[in-house]
Amino acid sequence: MPVETNNKNQIKPPRLRQFGGSFLILLTLLLLLNYIVPTFFGPRSPQVPYSDFIVQVEAGKVERAVVGGDRIQYVLKSEIDGKPTEQVFTTTPVALDLDLPKILREHNVEFGAPPPDQNGWIATLLSWVAPPLIFFGIWGFLINRQGGGPAALTVGKSKARISSDGSTGVKFTDVAGVDEAKVELEEIVDFLKNADKYTRLGAKIPKGALLVGPPGTGKTLLAKAIAGEAAVPFFSISGSEFIELFVGVGAARVRDLFDQAKKQAPCIVFIDELDALGKSRGGAGGFVGGNDEREQTLNQLLTEMDGFDANTGVIIIAATNRPEVLDPALRRPGRFDRQIVVDRPDKIGREAILKVHARNVKLAEDVNLATIAIRTPGFAGADLANLVNEAALLAARQNRQAVIMADFNEAIERLIAGLEKRSRVLNETEKKTVAYHEVGHAIIGALMPGAGKVEKISVVPRGVGALGYTIQMPEEDRFLMVEDEIRGRIATLLGGRSAEEIVFGKVSTGAGDDIQKTTDLAERYVTVYGMSDKLGPVAFEKTQQQFIEGYGNPRRSISPKVAEEIDREVKQIVDNAHHIALTILHENRDLLEETAEELLQREILEGTELRERLARAKAPAELNEWLRSGKVSEDKPLMQSVLN
Ligand code: ADP
Ligand code: MG
Ligand code: ZN
Repeated sequence: MPVETNNKNQIKPPRLRQFGGSFLILLTLLLLLNYIVPTFFGPRSPQVPYSDFIVQVEAGKVERAVVGGDRIQYVLKSEIDGKPTEQVFTTTPVALDLDLPKILREHNVEFGAPPPDQNGWIATLLSWVAPPLIFFGIWGFLINRQGGGPAALTVGKSKARISSDGSTGVKFTDVAGVDEAKVELEEIVDFLKNADKYTRLGAKIPKGALLVGPPGTGKTLLAKAIAGEAAVPFFSISGSEFIELFVGVGAARVRDLFDQAKKQAPCIVFIDELDALGKSRGGAGGFVGGNDEREQTLNQLLTEMDGFDANTGVIIIAATNRPEVLDPALRRPGRFDRQIVVDRPDKIGREAILKVHARNVKLAEDVNLATIAIRTPGFAGADLANLVNEAALLAARQNRQAVIMADFNEAIERLIAGLEKRSRVLNETEKKTVAYHEVGHAIIGALMPGAGKVEKISVVPRGVGALGYTIQMPEEDRFLMVEDEIRGRIATLLGGRSAEEIVFGKVSTGAGDDIQKTTDLAERYVTVYGMSDKLGPVAFEKTQQQFIEGYGNPRRSISPKVAEEIDREVKQIVDNAHHIALTILHENRDLLEETAEELLQREILEGTELRERLARAKAPAELNEWLRSGKVSEDKPLMQSVLN
């Protein structure tokens, strides 16, 4: 993030900083003075051993001496060597020698004690003052380095970063594929710029807008774009930054944030990841009283939002990807009364986002962003940004001049199926099992309605656990799934295991993931979409919101008899799908063998060649009977799917 200036309150109290710094320097100077002065400017004279000194005294050569506690300075009689100058020597006295005065007197040496120490007062002073000074100095230093004032003083200050006039460097043109959200937000920026236009007519400016959408769809990016476009101060803070160890801190920070915002109005306050502090009170957390701090913070936020007049010119924008966990009180009119949905982009949106991110990437002639957009349903903006970067990295690794379409295709595969793991070497039996398994998925997938084209099958391990994979690509964006498509999907998921059963007569653990998905889907078929004829359109699962408010159990209360019925129905659906998968594969045994052999040889089969092969799959008469259409669900609408 470029130039974001710090909130004024975060600037450290200057007095304290100087206090720490200058005293440390002063202290060092004094200490140096104390030791250097006597050393450099005091008398310097040759050192002699004490015994030599005594010998010289006894020889009558010493004229006078200054006897200190820790050293003796003495002068030799100048006439002895015939030199006129005085020679000064130093020796260290032996404390035990109590006869020294006597000896000196006997040899007529003039002697006395040294004058009181001139530098002593500094040492005395320092011995009293230095320890506390050192303590304060270190304390000040640490606090400065930490980047806050003394902890106790700033803990209640909000940590919002404030930026003005485009300092985030993001503009609305950097955000694509979310046009509705953009229009609404542009309107909000307009409220702030031309407030009178609205208030003149008696309209109340909305207090808050809530950006809601899945992760990576560009909510934070949109907020930065507002900051970049609006000519007003922009406070930005993340929900989790309110909360710290101490109870009550969050509430204090909310208060502080609003105080500052009101002073700087008109302005925008952006709270990212609102769910971190706006979680439903009561429910969810489970432990009663365990979320005191968050609750207080939330209450403070609600109070503040009620507490200012709509026309003061402070607009609060918040973002969350979990609107269902937010406290309903937050969404009441007069608070976050506008909800702006930032959804995953559609095909056109994806192309636009790809364009934004490909601006700084060198693309080869053959790259068609529209085609990439078709192949990436379900990708959010962040995924697409990642995709472009991945492709560019791949091209760079190959030392290409520009990024080619193949790089994008490989990047898509990486994102949906994981990295290739050629190092994971399978033995012959394993490889054969995997090959038949994948071809089983592919043949069933090719015959089922709405499942999209089977694009690729591979026995090259990829990702975390996959030993092989089958990729299906939808032909268009879809938002609903018809009932027979769900059952078709279940059959396709079971295709791998069914092929193993038919060919080897036994099954491997490789189908574990498929079976998990199968069962989940069959359960949703019954309990969420109400597609079972026996149980009818009754929802047995609660929505997440109800789940959160209702402490715990995701299922509605049902009688044991109904529970049994659900289990039986789920099993029935899975069994039927399994049966149809087996029937289809029996019917197409030759195709299965032949394709699996080819796959073992070549490791990867894809594109037109694969499609032509799979087009030869025969649909048994039973299939059409089994596929009777009718009901519709919102289940995972045909994203590209990878079966392992
Ligand atoms: P979130 O909705 O989780 O806050 P972000 O705004 O943090 O998502 O998006 C992460 C990144 O993904 C952005 O920095 C940007 O590069 C890219 N991105 C997401 N959505 C879009 C979009 N609509 N247009 C362009 N880029 C996007
Ligand atoms: Mg975000
Ligand atoms: Zn599988």
